[in-house]
Amino acid sequence: MKIRDWFLLLSIRQRAVLLLTLVLSSLIMGVGFLGDRGAPPNEDLNVDVGMSIRQIAPELGVTGKALARELGLPLDVSKSKNFRELDVSPDELSHAVHHLLSHTDATAKYYIFIALVLIGFVYLNFLGRPDGAGSGHRRSWYPRLPYNLALIISVGIAGFYLGKSPNPMEGIVKVFKSMVGLYPDPVAKATAFIFFLILAVIGNKMICGWACPFGALQELAYSFPIFRRLRRLKLPFVFTNTIRGGLLLLVLLFLFGVLGGREGFVIYHYINPFNLFNMHFEAVSILLTVIIVLIGSFFVYRPFCQLICPFGFVAWMFEGLSISKVRIDKEKCIQCGACIGACPCDAAKDRVYDRKLKADCFSCGRCLNVCPVDAIRYGSNFHLNLSVSIKPRSEGRDRHGRK
Ligand code: SF4
Ligand code: SF4
Ligand code: SF4
Repeated sequence: MKIRDWFLLLSIRQRAVLLLTLVLSSLIMGVGFLGDRGAPPNEDLNVDVGMSIRQIAPELGVTGKALARELGLPLDVSKSKNFRELDVSPDELSHAVHHLLSHTDATAKYYIFIALVLIGFVYLNFLGRPDGAGSGHRRSWYPRLPYNLALIISVGIAGFYLGKSPNPMEGIVKVFKSMVGLYPDPVAKATAFIFFLILAVIGNKMICGWACPFGALQELAYSFPIFRRLRRLKLPFVFTNTIRGGLLLLVLLFLFGVLGGREGFVIYHYINPFNLFNMHFEAVSILLTVIIVLIGSFFVYRPFCQLICPFGFVAWMFEGLSISKVRIDKEKCIQCGACIGACPCDAAKDRVYDRKLKADCFSCGRCLNVCPVDAIRYGSNFHLNLSVSIKPRSEGRDRHGRK
């Protein structure tokens, strides 16, 4: 059994690191649950149409503009008139309040994200290749079970148990919404986004690859055993990234009222698949998005991440800052294509051919145990520099390349 072989080949040092990582990540999750503020006390907030936006918005933790937007009113509508005067029905008011309350963050999720990223970081950098298994044993490197377990924890606990928020996608959307005054605390929203960005650059897109619940659900669907034999489609990166970036631009134009003439309109609300984790689909389009993406995930790798998610797009722009990532030793690589075949998207191909624009790498690890010449590994810059510095010099050249 691969996982057993892998474990037996780990050195004492690696087993100690494994134990330490498991203890530390359990502690982090435990602290998160102990410190979780839980559901807000105003979950049962009593509202009626005799009240005004000014009275209710603070109780919901949003600005008056945000509540107006939720009710389909112009952002500059009077905040002191009661809802009856604004022609808002009790049903519309209750629906808006319910939706805004569903955005309440479960703070324990931040800790789960940290713990999962820690596990992914340690696994890819230090444990995937057992010290006792040389390149002749590469089939026992990077077994899938630890990765799949991390994904299951993400979907089960950070997803269905703790609900939709916070999540990386909403992290960035809330920053944009703050810019048009839809949140009273823009600094808190920016801080949450920076938190997700840091988890994205610790390891290349590590938050997406190892911790985001909707990313994990797509990853599990793609890896589902009975569908693995299907012929999978690899979408060209230039196509997926153009759609994803174009959609973000469109969203911003609508949000700032440049298009549509209604400031505060957020297209992502109508296709936000994280609603799945609350089992609350406010619009048919959300349910359709979830169904299409999950069915699509059997055939295409992470379609939502590649084609739609704004965090996916922004985190891709920051990939150059990633501390550790897939690295290819160009001098060893014989361009055999094995890693390209193992990679579910264009990421490995773009790295082998050193393209300027490289497709997102989700740190899934599939490419790390297929190279016949051991030219591909996961690590930091420091690691690669080290390996280059101990490389034997060739053709009588010195370390500066001079003859
Ligand atoms: S790109 Fe995918 S994994 Fe990353 S935040 Fe978006 S949905 Fe989650
Ligand atoms: S598997 Fe190794 S040799 Fe083959 S293309 Fe990838 S890095 Fe190069
Ligand atoms: S298989 Fe592709 S996406 Fe996965 S780690 Fe390798 S390069 Fe990245």
